[in-house]
Amino acid sequence: SERGKEGSENGKVKVVVRVRPITQKELEALETPVVEADENRNELNVSTSAKRASQCKSYPFDNVFGPTTTQQHLFETVCRPVVDEVLQGYNCTIFAYGQTGTGKTFTMEGLSKSKKAIHFNAGVIPRSIKAIFEYLNKNSDDYTVQVSHLELYNEALSDLLSPNDKDQNLKIYEETSKGTYVSSLTDVIVEKEEDIFSILEMSSKKRKTAETLMNKTSSRSHSIFTITIHLHDKTSEGGEGMLRVGKLNLVDLAGAENISRSGAVGVRSREAGNINQSLLTLGRVISALVANHPHIPYRDSKLTRILQESLGGRNKTLVIATCSPAGADLEETNSTIEYAYRAK
Ligand code: ADP
Ligand code: MG
Repeated sequence: SERGKEGSENGKVKVVVRVRPITQKELEALETPVVEADENRNELNVSTSAKRASQCKSYPFDNVFGPTTTQQHLFETVCRPVVDEVLQGYNCTIFAYGQTGTGKTFTMEGLSKSKKAIHFNAGVIPRSIKAIFEYLNKNSDDYTVQVSHLELYNEALSDLLSPNDKDQNLKIYEETSKGTYVSSLTDVIVEKEEDIFSILEMSSKKRKTAETLMNKTSSRSHSIFTITIHLHDKTSEGGEGMLRVGKLNLVDLAGAENISRSGAVGVRSREAGNINQSLLTLGRVISALVANHPHIPYRDSKLTRILQESLGGRNKTLVIATCSPAGADLEETNSTIEYAYRAK
């Protein structure tokens, strides 16, 4: 991080934590919050047990966000700087990581899918699109914005924006000229920012149908939303302007509940066949990047192969770890925090 930690490629991996509000149901069950976000010191205070008046352990992060944090504040504080890098021609990735029900989808997509404009609860995806168009309208006379949406379930890839139903089990290819890419993946051109809402609606419908048909458990799939921008910058030096390509991956990861604190797969989940290879490998890839390890195990999962060109090097990575404030979730919260803490 910016604190000058060795090996993190000049702070290219940033890790922040967001604690969701306690729910009505939890209040009725007499839950009291056991996780407190100290937004001034950027520390997360986690009780050592769910019992009343137990001690706290403190974890510093690049940023921490409490239950009253708005979507706008989170976006402006940690996501806009990433979008700015993308507009300069880099490939960047924002991950939402955490237990199911802690706000990964709320953070990435938000609640305003069917609305026509950015609504109070709109998430990182529509806000990024808006920020991108604001920049392009001001600084470019020639650009394209394209998006794709992939779902990764049990190491099988499906195209959530394909116009037909056949595009399941897409393959990953590697070519020296093109790098790593997913074959026949649909790219949809976004003409104006409002298009994003119908696009998200389309992929969400497609995902739901596939879930019902194939009996999928949505908490076990990864969603990879990618925005690719080609732009000609009229304001850059030299008069002629410059052509730039930037890519932003917005990844809503599978529920983290099967990964134990050590990063291994728990016995129970192994029995249930719940090994999530991509989630495990992602943790190892991020740790290896942060430690400046000479070998980064990108090839060990599909998720990390797809994102290979966007992780590491000069590219910025942001991990938003989401957690519950409730005592009943303390064990999962601790494992999320430790996974996230290892990544910084
Ligand atoms: P996940 O994708 O991690 O499984 P969701 O995003 O579906 O979790 O969130 C679970 C529920 O909690 C949803 O009803 C969501 O709207 C709500 N929620 C999550 N985070 C917040 C938040 N920060 N503020 C308000 N509601 C939230
Ligand atoms: Mg979700």
